[in-house]
Parts: sequence; C-alpha cells; structure tokens
Amino acid sequence: MHLCEVVRTRPVTPMVQRVTLGGCGLAGFPAVGADAFAYLLLPPAGRSELTIGLDFDWAHVRSMAKDERPRGAYYSVRHHRPEELEIDLDVVVHDDGIAAGWAAAAAPGDKAALWGPRVLFRPPADAAWTLLVADNTAVPAMLSILDHRPVDHRVVAVAEVADDAEVRDVRPGPCVDLRWARRDRGERAADVVRALRLPPGPGYAWGGGEHAWVQELDALVADVHGIDAERRSLTSYWRRNQPTGLR
Ligand SMILES: Cc1cc2nc3c(=O)[nH]c(=O)nc-3n(C[C@H](O)[C@H](O)[C@H](O)COP(=O)(O)OP(=O)(O)OC[C@H]3O[C@@H](n4cnc5c(N)ncnc54)[C@H](O)[C@@H]3O)c2cc1C
Repeated sequence: MHLCEVVRTRPVTPMVQRVTLGGCGLAGFPAVGADAFAYLLLPPAGRSELTIGLDFDWAHVRSMAKDERPRGAYYSVRHHRPEELEIDLDVVVHDDGIAAGWAAAAAPGDKAALWGPRVLFRPPADAAWTLLVADNTAVPAMLSILDHRPVDHRVVAVAEVADDAEVRDVRPGPCVDLRWARRDRGERAADVVRALRLPPGPGYAWGGGEHAWVQELDALVADVHGIDAERRSLTSYWRRNQPTGLR
C-alpha cells in the first residue's frame, strides 16, 4: 500500500486525463512488469482525507461503514519514474464514474493511495511474437508493454478507440505493427484481428477492455488464430452499465 498525492494533471486526449501521483509513499513501489496495474484508493464522497492507512486490507474495507469506505478502481501504471517518486495514470473520463470523475477534477495535493502493483502480461519464454489488443482503457497498459519490450521482439498491436482524437501520438519503433481502429469510421478491432496474418512460430496474446468486447476478441484469437489458453491473457477491464470500482 502506497500513500501518495496528486502532483499534476493534464489531458492526453479529449477522453483521457493523465494524473501524476507522487510523494514519499511511492518509495519502494516495485517495478513488477510491463502492464503493472494498481488499485487507486480515494477518500469517501465529500471528504478530502483518506480513511485508510498503511494497514489497509480488503476484509476491513468491507466491514467499514459506507460513508467511511474508500472509493476507487484499478488503473495501469503508464509511466513509473522511481527517481522522481512519480507515477502517471491515464484515466478514461466517462459518465457516472467515481474514479473517472475524481481524475477529471483532480488537483495538486489531492490525497490518494495505490494498492498493488500486479501484472497480467506473462508471455511464455518461447514466445516469438506478441499480439496486443486494447480498448481505450487498456491503451495505457498496451503502450507500457511496447515501451518495455525487447527492441527486436515482433509485436502486432490493435487498439480500438472512438475517433482520431483518441489515437496516441507514439512512435512504437521497429518490429511493431501498431494499428488503430476508429469506431466513428466503422472500424472494429475484431475485424482487424480476424484479418491479421500473424508471424510464424509460437506467440502470445494479451488484451484488455470492456467485458463483452474482450470476450469476443478472446474467442477470435483462439478460434481464428489457434492460440491456446495458456498463451492468451485477455482481461475484462470494465463492464458496460455495471460499476466495478469501489463506491
Ligand atoms: C487491470 C486493469 C487495468 C486498468 N487500467 C485502466 C487504465 O489505465 N485506464 C482506465 O481508464 N481504466 C483502466 N481500467 C478500467 C477501470 O478500472 C474501469 O473503467 C473502472 O470501472 C473505472 O471506475 P469508475 O469508478 O470510474 O467507474 P465505475 O463506478 O466502475 O462504473 C460506473 C459506470 O461507468 C461505466 N464505465 C466504467 N468504465 C467505463 C469506461 N472506460 N467507459 C465508459 N463507461 C465506463 C460502468 O459500466 C458503470 O455503468 C483498468 C481495469 C483493470 C481491471
């Protein structure tokens, strides 16, 4: 558990707000891997101070009175600068989101905490290439995976976003085939993935996004490209019309 506070914020795209967290509590935040994610814990509604401390545990949270309970959600570590004790989270701002609403209004000095980190990106040692699929919520993790990859490792990355304004200005480097599907043009990640010719040899598929979207892509990766379960890690990041964050 790492207590921290907002250092600064800035928009990355019209839908994505970068929140930079910092402070002494981030000393010792471990570098666990490419798609590191942590639970962002926030003060209860209408409060500015956290109601949890370094002894935080989930069983205790469940027994807390509702107006004392922290709020929050999982977020990926887009950048970790251990020498500055800073972490960037890229938060998709959407309607009715507690964590998203907090990020949209966050100001320097606002209190927060990070529980974690953990990883889901665990390619087998013999993976000759990697397929990445992401909706806007998993683009931060996808770009972090690209930042961490060996320069000669082949990657096919497919991101589905709302429109041109959500496409990130990144230069992924050699050996990476990065494709953006823009929904306002009728483009879908599923169609791109279905039509892919993947490199030869054993691979690994990673992905994140909305629950039903991820399920469709997981089935495609398995059925069309024949990637076995132990070589796939596609995770539901959120569910349409269903809160998953602590509220
Ligand atoms: C491993 C992991 C890593 C993640 N990394 C990131 C990340 O880096 N950036 C990021 O933005 N999200 C990320 N997420 C997703 C994020 O945790 C969820 O979107 C979460 O629901 C946001 O919490 P909230 O309090 O804003 O909304 P909630 O209270 O959970 O939901 C409120 C309502 O908003 C809807 N909703 C939730 N998320 C979205 C969305 N993105 N777009 C539209 N409607 C939505 C829900 O269906 C619900 O109806 C990650 C999730 C996981 C599991």
